[in-house]
Amino acid sequence: MTLVFATNNDNKVKEIRSLLGDAFSIVTLHEAGINIDIPEPHDTLEANAREKSETIYKMTGQDAFSEDTGMEVDALDGEPGVLSARYAGEQKSADDNIEKVLRKLKDQPNRQARFRTVISLILNGREYQFEGIAEGTILEERKGGRGFGYDPVFQPAGSEKSFAEMDLAEKNQYSHRAKAFKKLIAFLQQQHGKS
Ligand code: IMP
Repeated sequence: MTLVFATNNDNKVKEIRSLLGDAFSIVTLHEAGINIDIPEPHDTLEANAREKSETIYKMTGQDAFSEDTGMEVDALDGEPGVLSARYAGEQKSADDNIEKVLRKLKDQPNRQARFRTVISLILNGREYQFEGIAEGTILEERKGGRGFGYDPVFQPAGSEKSFAEMDLAEKNQYSHRAKAFKKLIAFLQQQHGKS
């Protein structure tokens, strides 16, 4: 079985491919010859994820999935949340976004936060959603040079390292995306068993 992964983010593709095994294969937008920036106009991860998978399903007629992720900081009332990619502006700069979070949390003792991923799958024309959450804390300063986005300032609960200090296999033990994706794989295997 092949699914189109509705993303232009190479980091997400790398993470998902590292978890795939032989359950099914994925084709990226780039590999499918689709060159569009899919809009994320809604105010929830669920609605944005659905927008992306439905857009690609309508364009290709093929089973497809997408994911939308946000980082939710308790002391910022859940910000940046659905605005995570453009928290510091439309330039979508990871560095500027981190800077803004660190500035807003200056002298704030409550560093509790989480990443939340919502995957939207369109299979045979029906939509299914899968959620993955990684609880953790926002560090006082950046640590590590791997990963992407907010990884240098996010330390998952149960680890002494930031996500940016971990290789993919270690990040996958804690990550929101890996948790959501494992649910997707289990669902597809169950569907396959039925047919
Ligand atoms: P989106 O899901 O592409 O809209 O991403 C939302 C924002 O969260 C972007 O700024 C990403 O860089 C960031 N982000 C998404 N996943 C991760 C992650 O696993 N680690 C760190 N930042 C992430």
